[in-house]
Amino acid sequence: MKQYYKYGIIVSIVCIFIIGIFLLWNKTPKIKLNGDKQIQVLLNQSYEELGATVETFPFHKKYPIKIQGYVDTTKVGDYKIIYQISFHNKKIQKERIVKVREEEKPIIILDGDLKIELCPNHPYVEQGYHANDNYDGDLTDKVVIHKLYDRWIYTVEDSSHNPFVIAREFVYQDTEAPVITLQGPSIFTVYQNESFQEPGYQAMDACDGDLTQDVQIIGTVNTQTIGNYELKYTVTDHFGHTAEETRVVRVIPKPIENGKTIYLTFDDGPSRTITPGILQILREENVKATFFIINHSDSLNYLIQQAYEDGHTIAIHSYTHNYKQIYASEDAFFDDLRQMANKLESITGEKPTITRFPGGSSNTVSRFNPGIMTRLAKALITKGYTYFDWNVGSGDAGGVHSAAEVYHNVTNSLNSHTNVVLMHDYENNYYTLNALRDIIHYGKNNGYTFSNITETTPQIKHRIAN
Ligand code: ZN
Repeated sequence: MKQYYKYGIIVSIVCIFIIGIFLLWNKTPKIKLNGDKQIQVLLNQSYEELGATVETFPFHKKYPIKIQGYVDTTKVGDYKIIYQISFHNKKIQKERIVKVREEEKPIIILDGDLKIELCPNHPYVEQGYHANDNYDGDLTDKVVIHKLYDRWIYTVEDSSHNPFVIAREFVYQDTEAPVITLQGPSIFTVYQNESFQEPGYQAMDACDGDLTQDVQIIGTVNTQTIGNYELKYTVTDHFGHTAEETRVVRVIPKPIENGKTIYLTFDDGPSRTITPGILQILREENVKATFFIINHSDSLNYLIQQAYEDGHTIAIHSYTHNYKQIYASEDAFFDDLRQMANKLESITGEKPTITRFPGGSSNTVSRFNPGIMTRLAKALITKGYTYFDWNVGSGDAGGVHSAAEVYHNVTNSLNSHTNVVLMHDYENNYYTLNALRDIIHYGKNNGYTFSNITETTPQIKHRIAN
């Protein structure tokens, strides 16, 4: 009985040993990767296969590892490498992910400003953006926008997960005043005892839109009394910004209808060579004209004196006639004008009120200062002056080659109402001097009256172009 018990133990031990051997023999070998499970390789750099090893047991043979998969380092991407062995007709495998990446960040370029002002209660309208990457190219579609407090945050990632972030700040505020646009002229002329009709206006505001209904007009026009009336148009937007525009309404005496009239005007004089001859012809022909004078040597003052005594109109053209200087600002213009007015008053004893802008009110030489002519024309009237342009050109300031040409230019352009003829009496302008008597004769023979410009002369004004 004791023997059997002993054998039983031996058999059991042998059995356990055999089972142990069997289990070990059947134990699955392990593949162990050399290096990490995930590795990163820079674009266009070489990938070195690190391989793997197999953990085996004493009873196992050596297992060859089959490596499958490839890594294209010229293309960003995730590449899978498979390591495989066969064990009792079973496949055992392990994977490694090789990430090919580049390091340069993409960029987002915002259209519009980095800081923008938004009208309160107006929806934000995206100003636009585009994103680009050295590797992926256009990434605009991949941009993600979200709002963070007072900023829009634009984010994008390239295929290598390099991020780029940019912010656009916005503030809700209205900083702009409305704009009032006057319809009709800003200097409006109405004849005495005729009615004044408001030509209209419009007010627009960037945030509030059309504010025309809210415009208030301060001031009145009494067409029974001659004078200048200022109408002030004001409007205030919801945020307290006020706009103001003014219109000057001139109530002038109704001109006496004198039919076909020629107003000869001479600019840029007086001159030693031309003005005496012009004055002599005008005297002999008993014709009154208008001289728009600029500053010359005081030795020529006697010609101004003489013209005045002959009954011609002494008018202001400019002291310097220097466009860059006089159209630089309103102050510069009126400094120049006042200087000429003072000089003329000191010669004649009479304050001149008739003026002509150098280059005419329609000049474009002043465009270096946008809107200056519009402002000057209005301010001139407010200060009590009147300006005249012309509607008949003689071409004598350039382009003509004979007195006959001056004569034809003038006589061919005459109309049967008011004719303000532009001529010049600056030094050596002999074509004009030599054409003058023929022009006067033509006028007289064709039923024209000659007159000098006064406050009641029908307005001849160009359309202001600046
Ligand atoms: Zn001139």
